[in-house]
Amino acid sequence: MSGKVIDTLVIGGGLHGLSAALHLARAGRRVTILERSWIGRHSSGATAAGVRTLNRDPSEIPISLEAMEMWHNIEAIVGDDCGFHAHGQLNIAENASHLPKLERRLAWMREAGYEHEELIDRAELLKLVPAISPHCVAALIARRDGAADPHRTLQAFRRSAEAAGVVIHEGVGVDAIEPAGSDWRLRTEAGDFVAPTLINAAGAWSAKIAAMLGDDIPLGHKASMMIVTERIAPLLKPVVSVVGRPLSFKQSDQGTLVIGGGLQGSADIEAQKSFVHFRELSKGARAATDLFPSTKSLRIVRTWAGMEATTKDHLPVICASPNAKGAFHAFGFSGHGFQLVPVVGAIMADLIIRGSTQRSIEGFDARRLMQRQAAA
Ligand SMILES: Cc1cc2nc3c(=O)[nH]c(=O)nc-3n(C[C@H](O)[C@H](O)[C@H](O)COP(=O)(O)OP(=O)(O)OC[C@H]3O[C@@H](n4cnc5c(N)ncnc54)[C@H](O)[C@@H]3O)c2cc1C
Repeated sequence: MSGKVIDTLVIGGGLHGLSAALHLARAGRRVTILERSWIGRHSSGATAAGVRTLNRDPSEIPISLEAMEMWHNIEAIVGDDCGFHAHGQLNIAENASHLPKLERRLAWMREAGYEHEELIDRAELLKLVPAISPHCVAALIARRDGAADPHRTLQAFRRSAEAAGVVIHEGVGVDAIEPAGSDWRLRTEAGDFVAPTLINAAGAWSAKIAAMLGDDIPLGHKASMMIVTERIAPLLKPVVSVVGRPLSFKQSDQGTLVIGGGLQGSADIEAQKSFVHFRELSKGARAATDLFPSTKSLRIVRTWAGMEATTKDHLPVICASPNAKGAFHAFGFSGHGFQLVPVVGAIMADLIIRGSTQRSIEGFDARRLMQRQAAA
């Protein structure tokens, strides 16, 4: 379709597609993003936007810590602070029986040489979060963690990508992929797009794109739900989660409380729709009011669910395609990919431009999930 020469086609205009495109364009590559709906339509527009290193899987910690440095420098990267505030993230023990879990995590962290998580006692917890119910006993904290504004983040990444020369086509879905000499031809209703390299950043639909490339990567799906309340006076600054309960709780800059924690609605992947299950969602509201009793009479103003691909080990797929030369994967973030956005884009640029990366991505190779190939 486009007469312009394209070096890399990115399938999917979520934050991971935007970030990869931005890093590649800044390195001089001509990049086009094909987005079936509109930028941020799915997970990246539905996200809680928690910027969390706390309680990360060991194999994610190195890239998560690098991403955190990037978040602390985000204005220099994308020209906007993305509404990022580093007021810390806390994982709270409601009672003494939850404490050993936090202590074990801390012992492991220290043994592995990590210092970014600490255990705080009840007195410090109450100082940091005075509104918390006094029955809580302790918390694990990552003080440099925080949260951002997802829509400001999307706009900032989009603006920066376009300023670096990235071309974005919205309303253009990829229906088929075929080899064209040493290039890839992407078939869409708007015509064909051809380039030697492509990135599969298609979120919940990534397995479908991978299959078009000959990679059979089994993925599951999540449809995480969120609640937003009416605006209230300042209540808390850190982001709070609780051991053994589905809760992530924070206050936005506008004063609303933003409540999530992974409670699941349902998704119709074919129809590209997700659905809120109110009975299930009430568990999140209950956890919130147990932990913050002063919020009991607040009105809920909005709820939603957002779709994302999950892997069986809850770790992402970030790698070159095992079967298709010139194709690369970045998906399967399993509900915690927002924080990783700046660094994963840099990794994709490394893989495409240099053919390798010094960042630690061994745990994210698609082959770990591809049983057929593993058995062969
Ligand atoms: C409710 C919720 C809360 C979350 N909270 C957090 C959090 O607090 N912290 C955190 O780190 N992470 C969180 N996450 C996860 C995080 O938001 C995601 O990991 C991240 O946004 C994934 O971005 P993405 O670009 O990979 O996917 P998406 O944003 O879903 O983008 C994929 C895009 O690909 C497009 N696409 C699909 N198929 C095609 C095709 N054939 N052709 C063209 N385009 C196509 C889709 O339309 C979509 O726009 C949350 C997610 C949800 C849903």
